[in-house]
Amino acid sequence: MNHTNGNEITSLIDIYGSNVFNDSVMRQSLPKETYKSLRETIEDGLPLNPQVAEVVASVMKDWAISKGATHFTHWFQPMTSITAEKHDSFISPTPDGHVILEFSGKELIKGEPDASSFPSGGLRATFEARGYTAWDYTSPAFVKDGSLYIPTAFASYTGEALDKKTPLLRSMDALNRQALRVLRVLGNKTIKRVTTTVGPEQEYFIIDKKLFDQREDLILTGRTLFGAKPPKGQEMEDNYLGQLGDRISAFMSDLDTELWKLGVASKTKHNEVAPAQHELAPIFTTTNIATDHNQLTMEIMRKVALRHGLVCLLHEKPFASINGSGKHNNWSMATNDGQNLLEPGKTPHENIQFLLFLSAIIKAVDDYADLLRVAAASPGNDHRLGANEAPPAIVSIFLGEQLTDILDQIETGGATKSKSGSSMHLGTNSLPSLPKDTTDRNRTSPFAFTGNKFEFRMVGSMQSIAQANFVLNTIVAESLCQFADWLEKSKDVQKEINTIILEVIKDHKRVIFNGNNYSDEWVVEAKKRGLPNIRNTVDAIAVIRAEKNLALMEKHGVLSRIEMESRCEIQYEIYIKTVNIEGLTMVEMSKRQILPAVIRYKTDIASSISSILAVGGNAEIEKVLFTKISESMMSFSTNIAKLEKAIENAANLHGNTKDQAITYRDTVFKTMGELRNDADILETMVNTDYWPIPTYSKLLFNI
Ligand code: ADP
Ligand code: MG
Repeated sequence: MNHTNGNEITSLIDIYGSNVFNDSVMRQSLPKETYKSLRETIEDGLPLNPQVAEVVASVMKDWAISKGATHFTHWFQPMTSITAEKHDSFISPTPDGHVILEFSGKELIKGEPDASSFPSGGLRATFEARGYTAWDYTSPAFVKDGSLYIPTAFASYTGEALDKKTPLLRSMDALNRQALRVLRVLGNKTIKRVTTTVGPEQEYFIIDKKLFDQREDLILTGRTLFGAKPPKGQEMEDNYLGQLGDRISAFMSDLDTELWKLGVASKTKHNEVAPAQHELAPIFTTTNIATDHNQLTMEIMRKVALRHGLVCLLHEKPFASINGSGKHNNWSMATNDGQNLLEPGKTPHENIQFLLFLSAIIKAVDDYADLLRVAAASPGNDHRLGANEAPPAIVSIFLGEQLTDILDQIETGGATKSKSGSSMHLGTNSLPSLPKDTTDRNRTSPFAFTGNKFEFRMVGSMQSIAQANFVLNTIVAESLCQFADWLEKSKDVQKEINTIILEVIKDHKRVIFNGNNYSDEWVVEAKKRGLPNIRNTVDAIAVIRAEKNLALMEKHGVLSRIEMESRCEIQYEIYIKTVNIEGLTMVEMSKRQILPAVIRYKTDIASSISSILAVGGNAEIEKVLFTKISESMMSFSTNIAKLEKAIENAANLHGNTKDQAITYRDTVFKTMGELRNDADILETMVNTDYWPIPTYSKLLFNI
């Protein structure tokens, strides 16, 4: 990687993290005592000392100014799909007409943005506008676009979480508490902290900005609401890991540089399965930082694309008929002394600690599959989950051959061996023998063990990963809590551990499925096993109110009942608003673009028919086309009226958001499908010169 800076070539090592107030900057610039105290605060999860904040603020300000910052902003993650920021400059005027630059500990710790224009799900009335942001010192501050960005949590005047970060931090504490209890009964007295780690793989589409600008649906909703299937889709399997074209390559390289400056460890980039689809994966880090970094990654992707005359589409399903985009949330647990608790080692059957933590996860995923499902529920993701696309809406776990075999052995009397990975000869001595993994991959599983971590694959490409992770952390904390309650009282810990593992296998093996998750047989089989199959967002949201889920979040201090209720309301509202905007956009495009274009074309056919007849010709073919277009047009125009009416009725339902969301799903969303179908048929009949919006072929195969 080269980055030209005047005539100098700055190396990647110099660029990496250059805009981050990271540990090395802190160590160099903070007084020794302050540095030590802040490190302890971060590492041991202690409360912050206000005097430390004062010193940090002053040093942070000088560092930020040296990086070109004139402002600072508390950066937070409200319940929308993007982050929020309000910038204040460092200036403070002096009586003699100059300014000095100031930034206090108080300003670092606390901000007071007006909370009334963010979703609160009824947590506060509009007149109670006060909200607070609080510095999250576990995620490093950084400089971007002339401002010092301070990662913060966002809460209401009464202390309820109004954001995605607060429950995530609380859930990390909960998991830490319970994991430490389990490690202590296992005899470990030295581990001080267990954190969860995440590496989110981010999928996205890139299209040409000039074409994007011609489509109101993409501009307003992020997805194409119309578009006939192109003659070529992804069937040739020639895009996945295909060569990067020059424009994409230039974009990706610029993107990497921007991310590296911000300390985001962007590692892997490649073309994905669908045409125009790509992926970026960073190196994993602690969940909280990974979540912040994923928000930054999405933002920077969009910005950098524009610089290249491109648009980055993060929607889960920008195009019908080809794959949508998701986010694979790779998750594990790490101790402060560097152990990965999901590392099975060479002989996992003897690794009691590993098997116990594995059991905790299996139990958690089975007990709270519904909470994981709702963490991946969004109107955009409905087009993937449960809609004949990967992954399905049924939550199940893939363990692979080796672990499944060990669990089978335990169930039938005790595990005595671990199947090991063999080596593989490729039939010629010109190639090296390859060590084989202990298990193959399963691309269809929504929750797969991949060597030393679990990969939760249901999350949508546009969603924050916060909810997926606070749910994962909390449900695993609950299993660990139950194990610890049991083991702390036990006289023979070894024996009890074996009992626990055996019971988990017996009670929860129904959630383990190593087969093809896309098959129809699995849907039938999962039903037999009693696994939930929640087909859409509206049904998923309802589980937030289930007593077992409210009790779980309350018990671990992650979300109170009031906070859960507000999140439930917010998710219904988001669904309603999204479908409403999509419906209105369809009506507008249908009436003002598609219908007029079809009329123009039809009129021209009519005049060719008269001209042909006037010279005594036979206009049979033209007449057939005319009739076919007339028929489709009739259905199209009927459906426009039907959609308009459905939107009006749904919008006028007042009162219960759940009922309103159901109405939007069953009437507006359904009619949108019918209208689209008509338009897509018309598209295949109308001369391309008349068609008012760029087609799929143009959008997908243009770069
Ligand atoms: P794939 O082959 O599944 O596409 P990638 O290399 O694209 O894999 O992504 C794997 C992700 O998993 C990376 O972000 C990687 O850093 C992350 N990962 C690896 N180990 C862990 C771990 N212990 N905890 C969390 N994430 C991890
Ligand atoms: Mg990947």
